[in-house]
Amino acid sequence: MTTTQEQEQEQAKVTMKDLKASDPRWCTGCGDYTILVGVRKLMVNNQLQPHNTVNVSGIGCSGRMPHYMNTYGIHSLHGRSIPFATGVVLGRPDLNVFIHSGDGDSLSIGGNHLLHGISKNMNCVYILFDNQIYGLTKQQTSPTTRKGLPTQTQPGGSMMDPINPITFALGLGASFVASTAEWMGKHFVETIDAAFKHKGFSFVHVAQRCPKFNPAAWDYQNAGWMEFLTHETGVSVEDRLAAQGKQVEHDPSDLESAFARAKDVPNVFGLFYKEDKPTYDGIIRERLENAPKKDPSKILDGYLI
Ligand code: SF4
Repeated sequence: MTTTQEQEQEQAKVTMKDLKASDPRWCTGCGDYTILVGVRKLMVNNQLQPHNTVNVSGIGCSGRMPHYMNTYGIHSLHGRSIPFATGVVLGRPDLNVFIHSGDGDSLSIGGNHLLHGISKNMNCVYILFDNQIYGLTKQQTSPTTRKGLPTQTQPGGSMMDPINPITFALGLGASFVASTAEWMGKHFVETIDAAFKHKGFSFVHVAQRCPKFNPAAWDYQNAGWMEFLTHETGVSVEDRLAAQGKQVEHDPSDLESAFARAKDVPNVFGLFYKEDKPTYDGIIRERLENAPKKDPSKILDGYLI
């Protein structure tokens, strides 16, 4: 290998430093910082080139992710990250596509798009940042706010039971469904890594701290309330977590068991379900490749009278 080749290879090696863009402007202690670092780690571990990676977001605190990743990015409209990502996935299947969306962005205004993103099984990683509150707009009840929590919009306590993001995804036939927490270190990185390696729409629910507007959402210093799904084909559980939380054997190919385990969300973490299924983008590409070829100069001939 020549010195020039060595230099080129050295330049191509992606490091954590390469992935930094502008300085994050989240509140002190926000879990979004950990998610940001975790996604960078995933890119370094898999040597994903920044020019081959696109981070897409909607609106909310999570929406700022593309600004802080030195990759291509789209900070799109509220709840509309999936239509933007669909265009990228269909037009450039060679790119690595990550979608970042909060609980309000995903399950309220963006619920319809999420529904179709999941059912079409587009090849991308969808990270749902769940802090159980609208943080950017200062503490309104969100679709995952726990019942009884006083908020700016429901000061007497959130009135309805929260939406369960895992049963939502499972019910729509998602091909990859997992839950983790941003403070779980290895568990978090391993989960998004498995999501990235899965071909299809990888739905990852992430428990995220919002110390500013919902500090009681997750008791992250204590693992006693947590249940971890374990299986040889699932996500491993670090010793420090395993020692405190309850561990339940669950085969991620068993859909019935996945639904049964999901009833205890948001206290359950691990890989709920994984299945190989055709992707919408793959089917479209195959149809285009197999479509009868037409001479463009003769396209109008059939309309002549
Ligand atoms: Fe993070 Fe909450 Fe602050 Fe938003 S409001 S940046 S979610 S701590």
